[in-house]
Amino acid sequence: MKFISHHRHKLLVVIAVLSICLTGGILSYAESDGPARVLFINSYNYSYGIVPGQVEGVRQICEKEGLILDIEFMDTKRFNTDENYENYYEFLSYRLANTEPYDVILSSDDNALEFLRDHRETLTGDIPIIFFGINNTDTVFSAAGEEGIYGLYETTSIRENLELAMGLVPNAKEFLIITDNTPTGIGDANSYMAYAPQYENMTFTNVDFSQYTLDEFKHYLQNINENQILIYMTMLIDKDGISYTIDEAIDILAENASVPVFRPTIGGVGEGLLGGFMKSYEEQGRIAARYAVKLINNEEMPVDGLILERPNLYTVDYNVMTQYGLPVEALPEGTIIINRPLTFTEKYEQIFLPVGLVLGGFLIIILILIRDNRRRRDIEISLLEKNLALENLSEELTASEEELRSQNELLEDSREQLAESEQRYKELAMLDALTGLKNRYALRNELEDVLQQGSRGTIYFIDLDQFKYVNDSFGHLTGDAVLQEVGKRLSTLENKQVNVNRIGGDEFVLVAVETQRISDVSPAYDYSKSLSQILEKAIIIDEQAFYMTCSVGIVRFPEHGMTASELIRKADIAMYQAKEAGRGRAVIYSALMDVEASSILGMQNNIRQALEKDEFVLYLQPQLAMDTGKITGFEGLIRWQKSNGEIVSPGHFIPIAEQLGIIHHIGTWVLNRACHMLKDLKSKSDVGIKIAVNVSAIELTRLDFAEEFMAVLNSHSINPEDIVIELTESILLDSAREYLDKLNFLRNQGIEIHLDDFGTGYSSLNYLRTLPIDVVKIDRSFIVDIESNEKQRSLTKSIIEIAHNIGKTVIAEGVENEAQVELLRSVGCDMVQGFYFAKPMPYEQILEFIQCNDERSSLLEEN
Ligand code: C2E
Ligand code: CA
Ligand code: CA
Repeated sequence: MKFISHHRHKLLVVIAVLSICLTGGILSYAESDGPARVLFINSYNYSYGIVPGQVEGVRQICEKEGLILDIEFMDTKRFNTDENYENYYEFLSYRLANTEPYDVILSSDDNALEFLRDHRETLTGDIPIIFFGINNTDTVFSAAGEEGIYGLYETTSIRENLELAMGLVPNAKEFLIITDNTPTGIGDANSYMAYAPQYENMTFTNVDFSQYTLDEFKHYLQNINENQILIYMTMLIDKDGISYTIDEAIDILAENASVPVFRPTIGGVGEGLLGGFMKSYEEQGRIAARYAVKLINNEEMPVDGLILERPNLYTVDYNVMTQYGLPVEALPEGTIIINRPLTFTEKYEQIFLPVGLVLGGFLIIILILIRDNRRRRDIEISLLEKNLALENLSEELTASEEELRSQNELLEDSREQLAESEQRYKELAMLDALTGLKNRYALRNELEDVLQQGSRGTIYFIDLDQFKYVNDSFGHLTGDAVLQEVGKRLSTLENKQVNVNRIGGDEFVLVAVETQRISDVSPAYDYSKSLSQILEKAIIIDEQAFYMTCSVGIVRFPEHGMTASELIRKADIAMYQAKEAGRGRAVIYSALMDVEASSILGMQNNIRQALEKDEFVLYLQPQLAMDTGKITGFEGLIRWQKSNGEIVSPGHFIPIAEQLGIIHHIGTWVLNRACHMLKDLKSKSDVGIKIAVNVSAIELTRLDFAEEFMAVLNSHSINPEDIVIELTESILLDSAREYLDKLNFLRNQGIEIHLDDFGTGYSSLNYLRTLPIDVVKIDRSFIVDIESNEKQRSLTKSIIEIAHNIGKTVIAEGVENEAQVELLRSVGCDMVQGFYFAKPMPYEQILEFIQCNDERSSLLEEN
């Protein structure tokens, strides 16, 4: 579709250029010699509250970067009619045709974006668009998913507000959240309450304004105690049904509340409310414009189109801070503090200039006087006395001016020194004295910053193996020297995106942040290998060689946690598991690690025994082609049939096997069984049926995975074309280029690769583009409520569309009824699997099933 539109656009340009030439037009479309040009289309007009901020933000960046900026207003608040849109279309197409081409279009708020998307083909062609001011996540995702469209993903910021409040009111025990019974109020209440489980020490109370009369509510506000944090969200309608404007609500709160009022959205700061972490329209504009600059400079843009920088700023009122004695130093860095009186330096700077000018003026006059006096001294003896007096005065003045100047210099010097030593102190406090690496405080700070920005990345918690032995046998000096050398080697990995810290003893932490994008396979790099390579070479201290290894615990953010302490704790747990598993290893954190270690160990023995006693069974579940109803293949699903007949589902033991590092034993067993079944099937029926085996990403981490996999096929003389790999658990995949090599190798051998559980991972759309896969398997969670949930339905539709666009086939799993089949058919799904057709069944039932299905589908075809 896109392809066609590009061509059509080019055609239009050609016609336009031709017609201009023919009519001898004076316009010539000189390409990009002058400054780049930005067009900003705003949904509203300049007099509408939020617009000046947006314009200012965009303007600042454009001015700084020397871009030409044109701004057009759609004014849809006043004219929300079809006619206005049509007029606007005419208006804009006229303008676009009669100005030099734009390099980027910025769009703010919904109407402008919708308009631009609707008319891209005929109006703006492939000029890239950057949008902001869109609150609806679906719109953000679907717009950003279009080629050449990028946009701000403006998430809510409840957490920041809660934490700001807790930082300012450290003794607080309870959040009081003011909402009401309007839909907005109920929505706000729900969003806040969802955070309650994460703050165990805090009580969350929803104060429903609609339950109070105005007088009752004032009384309530007057009696809030200092252990309670008051957050104002919505306050539109009271118990008597009386409506209040936001301004009225602000006045009521400011006049009556006995505690500061936190406010996470714009409005109220400077009018008696304290403030919070809130959207800044200027910042929106600045971010969008900065990305426009990136586009113009051909810099890397987020591949998924989503700009994750948040246009939110901490904004508080100084007067309210002091009124309630809140600590200014507890405010996050970069907080905008309004109404703050000038500091001494600021004042001094303001006063110094005029004073200096006046003194300078005096000085000049005095100098002139002196010169005149001296010249005239001989002739005007009669004036001597007066002159002398004047001279005295001028000397005095000069002296005091000099004094002032030298004092000022002294002051300047000591201020500089102070700033310098403060800076040095800060740096020192962040450094580890032994290795010169950054320390655990720095780690925490930097990590919090990175998380705050919504970045993604990986943390490696590194612990040297047997370091205690070095210390004990060779002494601390040697131990320190080893640590220094390790630190030095680790620091070679550092760059803009990678930070190394020593957080104590023999523990180091490496944080690798991914570039601005939700997820992308290529730049995320797996450092565990580099870590072991770094230690490979002996460390020589006093002619003694030390061969060190390390155990590494890995966590990914935000998948494994949202705070620095949670992530470090989990990385530590994973590191411990790595040690347990036998040192010199890297282990990725899994939720199971929090489970009692002994029960896991018990499971390990059980799984080993199950393999030995041959207690595993491979069930098969058919996968069918949507158009013919014919079986295309079967998915192999493992079961554990205990000797007492009990059947254990894989959900109970696969994750543990993965974590214990024994999943490949199961994988090999499954593949052997599948090959065996294929052989048998071939001998009994001639249909081209494949068997899919589930391969967990953890198995892919094994160096010889691909070779071993092929070896099993060869040993059964199975054609690779008959085997499918269903890749499960995709978190791992994005951090590894070498996995891609293995997958590519297997795929080149003819093995089909299916991406399992699609839609559950993070921004899985990227995997589609970057992983070597043939088929996308839409996760069951999409299918479950596809009939009732419009959103899921349209998402499913988009996934299928995108997959088809890039040449992939789509299968849906978990199909349980006919309605789902029909819906899936209507959105173009290629294959289906689920209980509606058959449950997973033992091999013995397969032949019969194939036969029945053949009959059924050929009957269908005849109809
Ligand atoms: P999966 O790969 O997503 O497998 C699909 C699961 O959905 C299977 O559960 C299957 O029985 C179930 N299912 C199929 N159709 C329907 C349906 O219409 N409705 C409902 N409610 N469920 C349906 P199962 O067999 O319990 O497998 C669970 C997971 O265990 C699998 O998820 C897969 O990730 C893992 N697994 C199973 N066998 C293996 C294996 O041999 N190796 C590996 N590594 N993982 C396996
Ligand atoms: Ca599967
Ligand atoms: Ca699945």
